[in-house]
Amino acid sequence: MSPVIPIHAAAATGCQTAPVLVERGQREVFCGLTGIIWLHRKIQDAFFLVVGSRTCAHLIQSAAGVMIFAEPRFGTAIIDERDLAGLADANEELDRVVQQLLARRPDIKLLFLVGSCPSEVIKLDLSRAAERLSRQYLPDVRVLNYSGSGIETTFTQGEDACLASLLPVLPRSEASTPDAAPAQLLIVGTLADVVEDQMRKLLNDLGIAQVAFFPPRKSRAMPQVGPDTVYLLAQPFLADTARGLDAMGARRLGAPFPLGSEGTTLWLQAAAQAFGIPQARFEEVTAAPRARAEQSLGRHRTALTGKRIFFFPDSQLEIPLARFVQRELGMDLCEVGTPYLHRQQMEPELALLPANTRLSEGQDVERQLDRCRQDQPDLVVCGLGLANPLEAEGMSTKWAIELVFTPIQGYEQAGDLANLFSRPLARKLKLVA
Ligand code: SF4
Repeated sequence: MSPVIPIHAAAATGCQTAPVLVERGQREVFCGLTGIIWLHRKIQDAFFLVVGSRTCAHLIQSAAGVMIFAEPRFGTAIIDERDLAGLADANEELDRVVQQLLARRPDIKLLFLVGSCPSEVIKLDLSRAAERLSRQYLPDVRVLNYSGSGIETTFTQGEDACLASLLPVLPRSEASTPDAAPAQLLIVGTLADVVEDQMRKLLNDLGIAQVAFFPPRKSRAMPQVGPDTVYLLAQPFLADTARGLDAMGARRLGAPFPLGSEGTTLWLQAAAQAFGIPQARFEEVTAAPRARAEQSLGRHRTALTGKRIFFFPDSQLEIPLARFVQRELGMDLCEVGTPYLHRQQMEPELALLPANTRLSEGQDVERQLDRCRQDQPDLVVCGLGLANPLEAEGMSTKWAIELVFTPIQGYEQAGDLANLFSRPLARKLKLVA
């Protein structure tokens, strides 16, 4: 196994300066309500109350369709025709629904009112509603709001909006002197509990004792944030949350995202460097899990090396995933589409992509489909709406949303992540055999 090379030592600038095809046409994406599906599993005493239509309720139900809970941690307050026509006082109705919900569910400690297209259309002011309800129910229940509306958003922005809504209620930590070493490391972005446990152990083993995760598993365990905090993004779709943390004095550590063996190594290394961990200690702690990750990737390389892949813009994970499949699995990139290109956050990723990578931002779906058909890739990563038509045309597809729902970060998950790309190809081989 090769020693770890700090990213700033890499000579190449990758595709940091490559031209980007910017498109602003028709888009095919889910809305931000989808984030509730993974957020409600993470914050175990929170409830997500969508203030929306029957369509919103159906979206959440079908996205969560495989999970059946006796007491789910999300629901929809339906805005009906009377509300839309202005014949009913939507605020009164909302207060009544919240009162019934909280009376029945004393386990709820944090209630999110989640806005939707219909609540925005009738201009229901959910921030005022959240303030009013918080005054009524604190200290037992805090009520916050954010928008998951599908107007001008993509589905992972729901998590960004949710986490940004929590920032004003985070406890502030003491200011440190300008040259003081950071006191704590904050990992930002929802990770599956199993991944969180692995990351915490690795970071503790490196010698970083104060590690907090945001969002936390319990709403009463919100992390402190302040100038003594450095943070690492675990997910690439948290631009507003990152801006808010910066405004609170926290400092972001630039790194690729923890996907694959290389991504995880560079991500951990950014933390190790910020806390002054000696390189020898870093090698010692990461050697065994890196070896396991690289071994598990080897099993998929045979099937994937030389295969061509096309990413439609959907989850905002596309650039880190492209870096992973190209560098660690030997796949060739046809096009890497992303809904938004946050250059600052993506710089360490772009530095690792080939200089000639075709990057696109936004979407004009018909044009992009034409490019995809012309490329004839072996695998297409796209939203559910495009997957079936492309399969019907004979292409192999991977649903982008599956990559968000599945634990894929960290060394121990590297093989599972590779498997998500090799499985559709293996399935196709079986079908044609
Ligand atoms: S929020 Fe908008 S896009 Fe999302 S399900 Fe509701 S109506 Fe549809």
